[in-house]
Amino acid sequence: MARKLLLYYVPLEGVIIIILISACLLGVNCKYNGKNNLNEEIVEYFKDKNIIPVCPEQLGGLSTPRFSSEIKNGDGQDVLEGTTKVMNNSGNDVTEQFIKGAYETLRLAQTLGATKAVLKARSPSCGVGEIYNGNFNGTLIEGDGVTAALLKSKGIEVYNDEDFLFYIYE
Ligand code: SF4
Repeated sequence: MARKLLLYYVPLEGVIIIILISACLLGVNCKYNGKNNLNEEIVEYFKDKNIIPVCPEQLGGLSTPRFSSEIKNGDGQDVLEGTTKVMNNSGNDVTEQFIKGAYETLRLAQTLGATKAVLKARSPSCGVGEIYNGNFNGTLIEGDGVTAALLKSKGIEVYNDEDFLFYIYE
């Protein structure tokens, strides 16, 4: 059973909390196969809150649909440090696009003041805590996707969409 984290959404008077959300969770068809990862619970919870939908892979210049990608022998932090690459399943190196997408997402977060992010589990961009191992065989390893790793390193609280509970303050 996955560990559950609490995402507190408790704006103090005059304080606006802005949250990045993986656009595919909101039903945007930005997934590699041209589909989405609609999460109706997330839509319901966040529809009256201050959110910024983002798809780092599209922001990095990749097309939709596109080949699926995985981080080769490492995680998003390794990609940012230049010690490993992101490869797609046709054998092309898409590291540059993944890094660009991560920095464009960070730019949005910093420009608009987002302090938290709810991101799609296991994605090589958005995954938090676990990602696929780079061999396209369904094996998971510990680690974050490229965008999740960058946002974390800049002090943004990053949550996996499957592992947190909403804290509803009414
Ligand atoms: Fe885009 Fe992230 Fe969703 Fe992948 S998981 S489609 S990169 S928003």
